[in-house]
Amino acid sequence: VDRIKHDAPVLVIGLGRFGAATAGQLDRLGREVLAIDDNDTLVQKWSERITHTVQADARNIDALRQIGAGEFSIAVVAVGSSIEASVLITANLVDLKVPQIWAKAISKSHGKILERIGANHVIYPEAEAGERVAHLVSGRMLDFIEFDDDFALVKMFPPKPIRGKNLTESGVRSRHNITVVGVKSPGKPFTYATEKTVVTDHDIIIVSGTSSDIEKFSALE
Ligand code: ADP
Repeated sequence: VDRIKHDAPVLVIGLGRFGAATAGQLDRLGREVLAIDDNDTLVQKWSERITHTVQADARNIDALRQIGAGEFSIAVVAVGSSIEASVLITANLVDLKVPQIWAKAISKSHGKILERIGANHVIYPEAEAGERVAHLVSGRMLDFIEFDDDFALVKMFPPKPIRGKNLTESGVRSRHNITVVGVKSPGKPFTYATEKTVVTDHDIIIVSGTSSDIEKFSALE
């Protein structure tokens, strides 16, 4: 797979809640964005905040050709509630040979169809947000990133058994298979952890490890 330039312009199709957030953030990051929606009111609304907006029906491949969709190396299909439109639009982008297609799905079967027709990345915003909230409400985790390969980076309050000791004494790595990456005490800057770092009651730690090891670690009493 060719690497896509990190500043390549992005085509965003659909200016609903998900598409508008994607396009708006890309725009704030300074990326060139062309956002399209078939609803003219939405296009008008977002035209002040997003540099390039166009009204078009993306189910129509000729309309996509006319706005130069085939020139983009990255496209985001942010149409979810109409599965038929999402599928047709994704198929059009595949036909136009857009190399990186991200598409939002509202269900597993929707996602499977998108993958079959050639979407490179399928996103499930609601399912992902729900899983995230489950993690956050059920323990000490304050924030987390879970990578595809069962590896996670988590910000959390330290479990009791590791408080008041340095990392070697508490055996975080040997006993729990977890690496403490950094520690933050209230009012002090974040520091990288060493074996000698002592974790106290009011600290916040950043840890890395497999998702299941972190899950167990965060549940320690
Ligand atoms: P969200 O849940 O993120 O708000 P929706 O799926 O409800 O997402 O919103 C999809 C957006 O995509 C709507 O603004 C809709 O007007 C737009 N849209 C739907 N079909 C097409 C199409 N064929 N071409 C362009 N835009 C479309």
